[in-house]
Amino acid sequence: MFRFFLQIQLKGLNVIRIVFSLIFIFSMPLFAKTSYVAIGTGSTTGVYYPTGGAIAKMVNKKQKSYGIKANAESTAGSVFNVNAVLKGDLQFGIVQSDRQYQAYNGIAEWKESGPQKKLRSVFSIHPEVITLVAAVDSKITSLKSLKGKRVNIGNHGSGQRGNAIDILTAAGINWEKDFVAESLKASEAPRMVQDSRIDAFFYTVGHPSGAIREATNGKRKVRFIPITGLDKLIKKSPFYAKSVIPKGLYQNAANKTDTPSIGVKATFVSSSDVSEDVVYNITKEIFQNLNEFKKLHPAFSRLTKENMLEALSAPLHPGALKYYREVGLTKNIDPKLMN
Ligand code: GLU
Repeated sequence: MFRFFLQIQLKGLNVIRIVFSLIFIFSMPLFAKTSYVAIGTGSTTGVYYPTGGAIAKMVNKKQKSYGIKANAESTAGSVFNVNAVLKGDLQFGIVQSDRQYQAYNGIAEWKESGPQKKLRSVFSIHPEVITLVAAVDSKITSLKSLKGKRVNIGNHGSGQRGNAIDILTAAGINWEKDFVAESLKASEAPRMVQDSRIDAFFYTVGHPSGAIREATNGKRKVRFIPITGLDKLIKKSPFYAKSVIPKGLYQNAANKTDTPSIGVKATFVSSSDVSEDVVYNITKEIFQNLNEFKKLHPAFSRLTKENMLEALSAPLHPGALKYYREVGLTKNIDPKLMN
């Protein structure tokens, strides 16, 4: 009798064990490992920083289903981001389209290290304009009149530094000899103009941006300088296109009309080492909720699913491509990027 009782008890224990094992197995996704991803951006008063923040915010809201915890980090900018993504220090980076092209093809900053074959594109974001801001009292009215002045061409690691050098060289200005070149971060330049420590600065940025607002809202009046007459440069560079800084966007800028310039695009990149699932989920989150995303920054106002597949030159990350295939967006993608 006692033995019988014991057997039943043991059986009961086994049942409990089985039930617990089953609960554990079925609840595995709840305990699944969280993937921590770092997104490289730029100066805190640029547009990359809030853009990285917007992506992280949307993805983190669904942490339970995606298992992703994203964090936007302020960095030196595009060139730094490309290199940090390739090293695995960052999983994603926001990078100018010209920098993506140069890194993938092994030119400009990547001439010595060669083509960066692990670089993967995910999507493109807002347009950016090569913006030259000059103090009105410095009498700078054109690229040529930068000669003899003190000009910030941008910090090492930023996207704008290379753009400034391209523009100046194409305009026949030797940046190492014809003026005093500074290498300040974009977040420092507006105050330096206001303190009369520099006359002008270059910044490749989406509009409106905090840094340009700060530069235009100070006591010292500033204006945007047209970047024109560089058709040869545009023709030989697949990534430069004509663009404008619309008048009225910054109320206190001295310009009365649109300022013509040259533009690129901000793009979202990753590395072939980053998992397909992570890239798929982030892509899906932003594309499925594009209207919500667009509300997070005024520079996103013209984004469409189709134009977010333009201006890319590194192959698409397989996770992003999987999503674009699922929703039938591949007809908008350059076939070269889908191998
Ligand atoms: N285009 C800049 C760069 O690549 C950053 C602009 C921004 O932060 O919005 O460094």
